Amino acid sequence: MARITTTGQSITAIEEPQIGRRELLRLAAGVLAAGAGGSTGCGGGDDYGEEDARILAERIDAGRARAGAGRFGELRFRGYTGLAELPEFGLDEAGELVLAKRGVPRAIDIHAHLGVGVFLAPRVDLLQRTERVRHFLDDPEVLDLDVYMNDNFTPEARRRLTREQLRQLVLGSEFAATHTAPNLVAELDRMGFERACVLPIALGLPGTDLTEDWIGTLAGTPLAERLVLGASVHPRDDAWQPKLRRAVAGGARIVKLHPEFQRFFPDAPEAMEVYAECERLDVPVIFHAGRSGIEPEFLRKYALMRRYVGAVESFPNVRFVFGHAGARDLPDAVEIARRAPGGNVWLGTASIGVSALDQALAALGPERMALGSDWPFYHVGSALAKALIITRGDAGARRQLVRGSALEILGG
Ligand SMILES: [Zn+2]
Repeated sequence: MARITTTGQSITAIEEPQIGRRELLRLAAGVLAAGAGGSTGCGGGDDYGEEDARILAERIDAGRARAGAGRFGELRFRGYTGLAELPEFGLDEAGELVLAKRGVPRAIDIHAHLGVGVFLAPRVDLLQRTERVRHFLDDPEVLDLDVYMNDNFTPEARRRLTREQLRQLVLGSEFAATHTAPNLVAELDRMGFERACVLPIALGLPGTDLTEDWIGTLAGTPLAERLVLGASVHPRDDAWQPKLRRAVAGGARIVKLHPEFQRFFPDAPEAMEVYAECERLDVPVIFHAGRSGIEPEFLRKYALMRRYVGAVESFPNVRFVFGHAGARDLPDAVEIARRAPGGNVWLGTASIGVSALDQALAALGPERMALGSDWPFYHVGSALAKALIITRGDAGARRQLVRGSALEILGG
């Protein structure tokens, strides 16, 4: 048994790091189920039905079945470096993927993260440069840009992903140790990106507060000129309001909320209070929105797209970004963005396959979409590749999609 010594809220020592996979899983499931208040809040309660589950399964199957059958044909590459086949990309002397073509607008990534070590895990040294980045999708043998990105995980890679995500809560993840600020900036440099938003998630667990940690480490450093600092609060944290104000005063320019991992309904009254504060502070909100299909089933009820309508309609002056464009629930997200009375909804492109992205672009126009990578899940080059493929021959749409929308969301 691991013996854990705590002083107040901070974990000061963890001994004997030998812990089995099953024990790890049990511990993490308990953490997710019990964290931050434990209750599911209000906002109409659980209405996840069989029809919801059926639609998700259908969308997953249909997405896979259509891969390679769109107007761009097959889009399968030999890993991230295989993207060098694209006319805009190449490889440098070290064999790393680079943006090789001039004239591509400097991208702004609306959706990236840094290394997570929270709860019982040691915090990640965000300033360290390591030899290579271990993306959660760690240079796959085959990278298909025409599927939802998490379909690129082999069963073995999926197991590794689960293991590393749990290790971010206990023991520490060797992948997360490479998800550092200089590593991200080096990747941004190679791919010609100007900036990336780095988004913490307030899991409501004792231990490291990622928002405070990242701001404390990065604000005022040269790295912060390339990394737009995000904040995250938990709507059921009694102190969320002062924490949010402190974060924004400290340099945070966008707020990340993850209803699934944070276990709150986006239309719950306590969440509405957070959006009201974001309106007062004039900071945009980026949601994890929609179901990815690989999350634990008991969390899916929090991410149904109908749950986001209340936020968008009640706060037409708040700029909302749906990360992953609604994920597997993209069709619902497109509808909500189209109908949003304030024109205040953007779809982030992270994870969405090329053909699906192309259709969303046709439906909404580039003004309502913003480039996102979800680094360190995936190489930022994979996100840029998709944006370039769907905007070939339309320089205006390309500029808007890869940076213009982000500038409008962030207010410059
Ligand atoms: Zn994300």
